Amino acid sequence: MNEPIIIAIDGYSSCGKSTIAKALANRLNFAYVDTGAMYRAVSLYFLREKLNWEILSVKEIENTLDQIAITFVYNESKNSSETYLNGENVEDEIRGKKVSQAVSEVSQIKAIRSRMVGLQQSVDNRSGLIMDGRDIGTKVFPKAQLKLFMDADPKIRAQRRFNELKATGKEITLEEVEENLESRDYNDTNRKENPLRQAEDAIVLDNSNLDQEEQLIWVLKLLKEKGLI
Ligand code: C5P
Repeated sequence: MNEPIIIAIDGYSSCGKSTIAKALANRLNFAYVDTGAMYRAVSLYFLREKLNWEILSVKEIENTLDQIAITFVYNESKNSSETYLNGENVEDEIRGKKVSQAVSEVSQIKAIRSRMVGLQQSVDNRSGLIMDGRDIGTKVFPKAQLKLFMDADPKIRAQRRFNELKATGKEITLEEVEENLESRDYNDTNRKENPLRQAEDAIVLDNSNLDQEEQLIWVLKLLKEKGLI
């Protein structure tokens, strides 16, 4: 039997990883997992419980993680899946300022990363899987058949993210978005545990000047060339 196809998408913050991942998953009928949403949901839990991740012991972190169930539920009207934390839809809240400021600190904690990586590796991939994040091609699925590393001009990324946040009614300035992206990229690239790196066999997709349809066509062509579809 052929191995299920796994597509790993990594890259800097707000490069459009999840947009292309969702479009591909819809087109190919693959499962899709947004691993950033998992770290965001964990961060939200710690913030709500007023737990300081910097001073908790490994045991305390693990006990806290035992209290957290993250699920994704498909929302038909939005044609995409939403993140649930212990049964509550937190899709909107995890994209807000507070979580965005905490998440790249929370995701540096080894015990949190190990738990998330384990969960990600156990996702049902039998009908094909697309996963996006920072360490998917390097750590979660080092044998993924296709690895993409996404990049885009930082100014373009910040403007896209700002537009998205404004569209959902978030109170935020373009400068705040720029600062947040810059500090997350710095933390994600410089942390000790599974830092953001381009896997040796990853293919770079710079989408500064590509729209969604052009990116989709580009990736589908790549998959065909590799004999994966
Ligand atoms: O993808 P998104 O921007 O929502 O991710 C939020 C944060 O979660 C990232 O800035 C990073 O700190 C963390 N993350 C991670 N590893 C992943 C996915 C996300 O450390 N695989």
